[in-house]
Amino acid sequence: MISQKMIKLINNNSVIRAMFEEGNRLAKEFGRENVFDFSLGNPSIPSPPSVNEAIIDIVKTEEPLALHSYMNNAGYPAVRETIAKSLNKKHGTAFTESNIIMSSGAAGGLNVVLKTLLNPGDEVVVISPYFVEYGNYVGNYDGELVAVPANRVDFQPHMETMCQAITKKTKAVIINSPNNPTGAVYSESTIKELSKLLTDKSNVYGSPIYIVSDEPYRELAYDGTEVPYITKYYKNTLVCYSWSKSLSLPGQRIGYIVVPSEADDYELIFDAASIATRTLGFVNASALIQRVVAKCIDEQTNIEAYDTNRKLLYNNLKDLGFEISEPKGAFYLWLKTPGDDKDFAKAALKYNILVVPGSAFTCAGYARIAYCVSKQTIENSLPAFEKLANELGVKK
Ligand code: PLP
Repeated sequence: MISQKMIKLINNNSVIRAMFEEGNRLAKEFGRENVFDFSLGNPSIPSPPSVNEAIIDIVKTEEPLALHSYMNNAGYPAVRETIAKSLNKKHGTAFTESNIIMSSGAAGGLNVVLKTLLNPGDEVVVISPYFVEYGNYVGNYDGELVAVPANRVDFQPHMETMCQAITKKTKAVIINSPNNPTGAVYSESTIKELSKLLTDKSNVYGSPIYIVSDEPYRELAYDGTEVPYITKYYKNTLVCYSWSKSLSLPGQRIGYIVVPSEADDYELIFDAASIATRTLGFVNASALIQRVVAKCIDEQTNIEAYDTNRKLLYNNLKDLGFEISEPKGAFYLWLKTPGDDKDFAKAALKYNILVVPGSAFTCAGYARIAYCVSKQTIENSLPAFEKLANELGVKK
């Protein structure tokens, strides 16, 4: 018999797999253009042309043996230095290559960081609704996930509940802003309050509680919304960044971890995370793509296109009478379902609309609508949403 942990995961996977299969079935029956699939967080905007140009240039100009070789587990020093300088320019930080470890996307970075921090039984606090993989990642290292509900107005963390949830077993708090699934961006005052809470708790318990800042959506913020850089507020922050969304490179598996020099046990963390990169089997982040992101360090995806989708969908769904908290970042809209969220997703399917029920993010009563689709898909979907609103008796 295979691993019991994996048997459980196979069983839990069935909701998402069923939705994926349903999308394909509908596409076959009605044609892809008549199916409004808002279920996946896959970027809909191609990478900037400079990405492919960089790949071609690097392949043409680098010596092949060197280009494809192993390297330091932390990644190329020159690439890490380029990233450090770019962060310093943007955020007024003082990082060097010694603060950066290249990772296989944010998922790889989170696993490396959790492997580095956790002993069995250590608690990791997450703010619900949350990216459900956190539970799997924490479980990989026999940690315990503790979910604390965000407030239901703008989905910022609720400090009093956080305060009650943090115990002497708490090793880390994972935050994700801009947020999947709510689209919330944590304000500066939220970050300040959280930093104070964790500083106080760390002092009381006599051991550091780390913030693990999961940042695949850092660049996707709208209406001039600031996304505070967490290490500036809380020294025990480990950042897991990714280019999956900011350069539309999710299949290439590239990101980095920031370990600030001021963090408690900085040297231990840096060394352990470099080793974890190896022992978890990543060995190092992809050689070619490391060089590519360094060359494209000032590039980013076409955020205006996501913003256009956001406004189009948000305004129209609001006009139809749906209750939604205005998303400020990422590419998700978080809709309060008029009744049960699974029933809502089922009703939406009748009109070929695919959304993810909030319970898949441990938050029943909501649905996530991923607007990383073409503008035309949104335009074509609006009559279908209207029919859905009518069927459910949503009040205008
Ligand atoms: N964290 C969150 C909140 C995500 O939404 C995702 C992907 O959708 C990830 C992490 C994983 O991103 P990556 O592709 O960089 O591993």
